Amino acid sequence: MNRIFFRFFMLVMLSISGATFVIYFAMSRLFGDPLDDIARRQASAQIFLVEQYVDKARADEWLARLNRVREVSDTRYDLIPLQKARSFLPATSLGALDRGDVVLDIDGKSFYRRVDLKGERYIGSEDEVIHAQDLPIDVSLALQMEAVRYVIVALALLVPIALWSRSHWQGLQSLSRVADEFGAGKLSARAHMQPSSSIYPLAERIDHMADRIEELLVSQKNLLHSVSHELRTPIARLEFALELLGAKTDDPALHKRIAAMEGDVSELNSLVSELLGMARLDSGQAPQRETVELAALLHTVEAALPPGQPVLAIDCAPDVGTIEADARLLGRALSNLLRNAQKYAASTIRVTARREGARVTIAVEDDGPGIPPDERERIFEPFYRLDRSRDRATGGFGLGLSIARKAVLLHGGLVQVTGSELGGARFLVVLPQR
Ligand code: ADP
Repeated sequence: MNRIFFRFFMLVMLSISGATFVIYFAMSRLFGDPLDDIARRQASAQIFLVEQYVDKARADEWLARLNRVREVSDTRYDLIPLQKARSFLPATSLGALDRGDVVLDIDGKSFYRRVDLKGERYIGSEDEVIHAQDLPIDVSLALQMEAVRYVIVALALLVPIALWSRSHWQGLQSLSRVADEFGAGKLSARAHMQPSSSIYPLAERIDHMADRIEELLVSQKNLLHSVSHELRTPIARLEFALELLGAKTDDPALHKRIAAMEGDVSELNSLVSELLGMARLDSGQAPQRETVELAALLHTVEAALPPGQPVLAIDCAPDVGTIEADARLLGRALSNLLRNAQKYAASTIRVTARREGARVTIAVEDDGPGIPPDERERIFEPFYRLDRSRDRATGGFGLGLSIARKAVLLHGGLVQVTGSELGGARFLVVLPQR
């Protein structure tokens, strides 16, 4: 809210300041300097005295009248040579002085005016200038009034801008909440904004897009689930038929072929189980949370691993304690990571569990071939396998990491992969504590 509000407010204030300067310069150009005008009004009494009283005297009385004014006035009236006056004034004012106009010096609180243009008042009067000083000129008051006006306009604008930003901000916040929820897998999340809202058209499009994505995902999930489920029966029939066939023959060559076919059927069976497991994770069901002792969970997962070569070291900090999680799902995710490490490690696997503030991190590292940086996101895609020649020997369908990530995501966490100091891959599971 603050960002959108201040940016807009600053923009408006800059525009008002810009407009103020443009107005000032336009007015100066078209009608003369407004400050000069104010100063001229403030000094109008002294100008009036010179023009209407002193100048109206007969030529031989002119000086005497000026002296009379000098006696009764607080303003100093001096007669100075024209050249000296010219040296005090800026070049832009010299034309007006030469024409015989009153030329104001606002900063010096004074004005200059030639005595006359033809030397009619006394000998040499055309080369002299009346310099009136200590005039009651004070434009700072006018400038202060201008500043107060500016501040009042700014404050008056603050209120509508705040109201306007607030209504936008609330709409944007509810849209970003919808985007977060939808991204986190809650496919039913919608903005449902009032038509009167300023961002209603945008919200409506986002809701419409969410409807379409939900439809597509649901139909895709249903298809995956149905196909996997439907495959179960023919696979079971095949298993049964192969068993019968094996029992009915003594031919060793046929037995060998049947054993190979049984291996293929069992592979098919595990693929279907994996797919069904993934479909279940995609169903959007919230995990069944319970209090899980993390060290115990890691040891259970370790115990269930197939016996293998690489040495596995679990380093679980004493303060890791418990987290609220679905033990089965989390165990599955960790098991997939450990099984991969077992498949690819040369000799060592290291599991490190730590508590970092309000979250728990579990790192699974190995000294295997590792994962190239440009493949580190793709390996989490279903059926994506890195190097087919390398992976063929290790088995697997490319679903393990995808399932692990989905399971951790359901807990509000994330799985990342980097390089390990052991030389291989380092999978990091970050789980927020609820
Ligand atoms: P799979 O069932 O084939 O192991 P995964 O989804 O578990 O599928 O892994 C995807 C791919 O990521 C694997 O085929 C493998 O190429 C790569 N991979 C996973 N774990 C590791 C690891 N610890 N070291 C090196 N490569 C790995």
